[in-house]
Amino acid sequence: MTNRIAVIDRTKCTREKCGYQCLKICPVNKMGTECVYIDAEGWPVIIEDACTGCGLCPKRCPVNCIKIINLTAESGEPSFQYGVNSFRLYGFVLPKEKGVLGLVGVNGIGKTTALELLRGTIKPNFGVLGKEFSWDEVKKRVRGEEIQSYLKKVYDGEVKVSFKPQFVDKLAKSNKKASEFVNELNEKTDSEKQTVLTQLELNNCLNNKLSELSGGELQRIAIAVTALKKADVYFFDEPTSYLDVKQRMNAAKIIKSLSENAEVIVVEHDLAVLDYLCDYVQVLYGQKGAFGIVSQIKSSKNGVNEFLQGYLKEENVRFRDNEIKFSKYAPSSHKGKPEIVYSGFKKTFKNFSLKADEGFFSEGEIIGVLGPNGIGKSTFAKILAGVEKPDEESDFSHRIAYKPQYLKTDSEETGMQLAKNAGVNVGRFNELKYKLELNELLDKPANEMSGGELQRLSIALCLSQDCDLRVLDEPSAFLDVEQRMNSSDAIKKVTEQTGVPCLVIDHDILFIDEVSNRLMLFEGEPGKNGLATSPSTKKQGMHDFLKKMNLTFRRDSETNRPRVNKPDSQKDQEQKATNNYYYE
Ligand code: SF4
Ligand code: SF4
Repeated sequence: MTNRIAVIDRTKCTREKCGYQCLKICPVNKMGTECVYIDAEGWPVIIEDACTGCGLCPKRCPVNCIKIINLTAESGEPSFQYGVNSFRLYGFVLPKEKGVLGLVGVNGIGKTTALELLRGTIKPNFGVLGKEFSWDEVKKRVRGEEIQSYLKKVYDGEVKVSFKPQFVDKLAKSNKKASEFVNELNEKTDSEKQTVLTQLELNNCLNNKLSELSGGELQRIAIAVTALKKADVYFFDEPTSYLDVKQRMNAAKIIKSLSENAEVIVVEHDLAVLDYLCDYVQVLYGQKGAFGIVSQIKSSKNGVNEFLQGYLKEENVRFRDNEIKFSKYAPSSHKGKPEIVYSGFKKTFKNFSLKADEGFFSEGEIIGVLGPNGIGKSTFAKILAGVEKPDEESDFSHRIAYKPQYLKTDSEETGMQLAKNAGVNVGRFNELKYKLELNELLDKPANEMSGGELQRLSIALCLSQDCDLRVLDEPSAFLDVEQRMNSSDAIKKVTEQTGVPCLVIDHDILFIDEVSNRLMLFEGEPGKNGLATSPSTKKQGMHDFLKKMNLTFRRDSETNRPRVNKPDSQKDQEQKATNNYYYE
């Protein structure tokens, strides 16, 4: 038995402009039974009970905005549906009393909806639109389910929540001093406040206004004020965006410590952080923008592995045809002749100086770059490009295709216009369209794109340009796990095909591990001085970097993904004792 759902994306539907093709093509309508009709505001509506699932209207729709999906009867009724022919979520996220629960899934699959149900900002409607359910009615629907006692507390107003939203940029609109903002929201003791601020390395920016802070500083302020509220449940929606590896691990420690006295739920796409932080995982799967289903609770290892494998064992559900695979022996040496050789240089600014050791990048190799924020990585790239001049005379003038870290744009130009302006190699750009899901962005104005959409387009623009060196600054930001792996594949493929060396600066260690042939480490004191070391083998670079972070990695036997050993676990102690921080 099937349960058919129809979803129309109203952000794309052109209504009368297309002549209502969906209405005209529907065979059920033609037979005289109403299946597709136009509502009072001119939107097409598909009556799901009348739809036979013939599939004609999705094919006919000129903007590809209709999805007709057959669900199995086991999915039951949704826990929440936004509106007619719109996204719905099945199942509930289940907070755990002890330990941190992680949510993993692609973007647009309902993670934020699941959190809002737990926060009580939306109430379950079980797909019955326009009806407000009383607690007694909700109780009947969830009787005997694990979520029942939690939802009762939400309805009784007995759950105090503290929530860090996904986007922190809005904080920058405030002219308040950071210290004032933190003090206003702090509900804990001064000593607890100081511990959090120190661990998040925020003391130096507290005298600045929120509007003057960087993305990473705003993220850490948002984590601090969330942690400093007294709450029964803490929610952190993507807490690592803009943070470097050390900051990610420090944030993870703060978040983990909250779970001693409260329930903690985290949405995160950096699998190393998720692994390090979470004790349990629930996987969200389904079809982006159409429906999402919340899996049972799993151990963090099994949850992440099953997500990568695209198959949920207990549920016996395959939700993706292909497995996301990590290379067992990620390429770890350079090949080809040196393409770009640079001598050491220095660059001195008023408050910051960068020193670079000599080095080279070979034909067809990818150099992963790891280092803290504010250490001069972007300055290094700009000097190679000839945009910035080093202190001494130099003749750096390589043609560099550069994808910057921050991608904000007010441009109304569409994805296709931006590609034309960038002078891309059309054949290569077309090849990347599928892998990076660009088709829907070609006619979309850049200022209407989400962070993830802008990121995928920018990666494609950089990879499609003809140049001597490519530099991608934080390509994993705003991307979900699947998109990160697809981007990594695209970077590897283009680098191999063109032979043009590529520098990838990122803070997702798994992403860097998967994509790089060699590694370059930046060291020093952020905001004061930086040292760009010569590229080294990946094994040596990873070992040195992880040792500085006091982390050890091992390979997961099922998926080959690198896993962070839990601090002080037997494996962690063994690897540290043998000075073997990296697993190779
Ligand atoms: S899929 Fe459903 S709504 Fe669309 S044309 Fe067929 S019967 Fe009509
Ligand atoms: S065919 Fe597509 S664009 Fe046209 S009215 Fe129907 S859903 Fe909207």
